[in-house]
Amino acid sequence: PGLPAARVRSTFLDFFREKHGHLLVPSSPVRPRGDPSLLFVNAGMNQFKPIFLGRADPRSEMASYRRVVNSQKCVRAGGKHNDLEDVGRDVYHHTFFEMLGNWSFGDYFKEEACSMAWSLLTEHYGIPADRLYVSYFSGDAESGLTADEETRQIWLDIGVPPKRLLPFGLKENFWEMGDTGPCGPCTEIHYDHVGGRDASSLVNTDGPDVVEIWNLVFMQYNRDVDRSLLLLPQFSVDTGMGLERLVSVLQGKQSNYDTDLFTPLLHAIHQRSGVGPYSGRTGADLGKVDTAYRVVADHIRTLSVCIADGVHPGMSGAELVLRRILRRAVRFWFSVPGDTEPRDHGAQNAAACPQEFSEVSDATKKDSGLNEYFVRTSGSVAWSLHRDLGFPLDLVDLMLEERGVRVDHQELDRLMAENQKVASELQSGVRSQVTLDVVSLAELHGAGVPHTDDSLKYRYTLD
Ligand code: ATP
Ligand code: MG
Ligand code: MG
Ligand code: MG
Repeated sequence: PGLPAARVRSTFLDFFREKHGHLLVPSSPVRPRGDPSLLFVNAGMNQFKPIFLGRADPRSEMASYRRVVNSQKCVRAGGKHNDLEDVGRDVYHHTFFEMLGNWSFGDYFKEEACSMAWSLLTEHYGIPADRLYVSYFSGDAESGLTADEETRQIWLDIGVPPKRLLPFGLKENFWEMGDTGPCGPCTEIHYDHVGGRDASSLVNTDGPDVVEIWNLVFMQYNRDVDRSLLLLPQFSVDTGMGLERLVSVLQGKQSNYDTDLFTPLLHAIHQRSGVGPYSGRTGADLGKVDTAYRVVADHIRTLSVCIADGVHPGMSGAELVLRRILRRAVRFWFSVPGDTEPRDHGAQNAAACPQEFSEVSDATKKDSGLNEYFVRTSGSVAWSLHRDLGFPLDLVDLMLEERGVRVDHQELDRLMAENQKVASELQSGVRSQVTLDVVSLAELHGAGVPHTDDSLKYRYTLD
């Protein structure tokens, strides 16, 4: 029930293109072009950065852009925006998602941006206004930034009741693309999935009931390397709305995974898995299988899109992140009770990008051999494998968590610092040895983790 995802997307694009004179610009590939500050494209505005900075080549088509609309492939797994840890645990953060956006480059500003957004959501998509909350920038004395009263007034004029208009600080309502670059105050629209109550206290609390759907950024500044804010040559609007979240709203689902963007994928995973169907549960115990389903579904999408865009699992940068994502998917699937064999998790995407399927599938198989090894070794060995093979620490954590072992993070930090020291000593030609014991003997015993004495104190020789 509800509008299919493809219609949700096309309605957005048509609204801005046909009704409001925006030019439709295709999504850029997920690998950023000529931007070493980014591992992946993480927002719709990335490809327009030169315009915001006033650096677009005057001979390029981009230089003529005034009003633009697009749907951008985004990956948030690494760098400033890293949502990897949330994926699977919640139902609205993905490593890959589509960001619907409209832009004004020195054309319209706050008033028109807000009224178009409101009209699209409430009139065209038919979302009840009493399910929506709007946040605006409250100012920040330390940075000398005043509250965005202008935007507040615009929303009041549009008809948003004062109690649904909520001020937030820098973290929530001042958007910055990275450590440097274009930025400005933003106003965000949140949706209450439950309704029939005052949910204003739940806005921006990162829960499943009230979820942020649309961010409207008013680009006024450029953040310099020395952290200072300079006014941009022209003011612009940059908006981004997560397609998956919008679709969940319009299909009356509280979880993105219950929409037509994910259900076919979850169904296909079920058919190949030999475990029960996806049932949408969350939580550490209840949702174990379902979390694995979500992680695998999410990571397959990311792997498929990235590989299709030429980013392959590899050894550094974005490639390494992708390799970790692949391992993470395999790892989560191994944690599902009753599933002992690695399966072709990439199979269901074969139709979407056939030429890439065998590669994803091969890489999955290759990695599962390594995974077997992990299952049988202790936490301290896993740590050394992190150091040695780049196995991500979040997975090491996860593996230990699965065995009921808490990782001593202070100890881990200490070991990492020590390791760094040793690494720099190595560079100056000093040979060193470090003992890495991440979990204590008592903890392992207590948790009933099978081990050998060797695996408890793993001597890792750095030479
Ligand atoms: P959140 O606070 O939920 O993490 P955000 O503030 O980091 O979101 P923005 O940078 O404002 O997100 O991006 C614009 C929109 O993109 C969000 O309002 C949301 O709809 C969507 N979005 C952001 N991150 C994700 C994600 N990891 N998965 C799916 N959609 C996302
Ligand atoms: Mg976020
Ligand atoms: Mg947010
Ligand atoms: Mg936001």
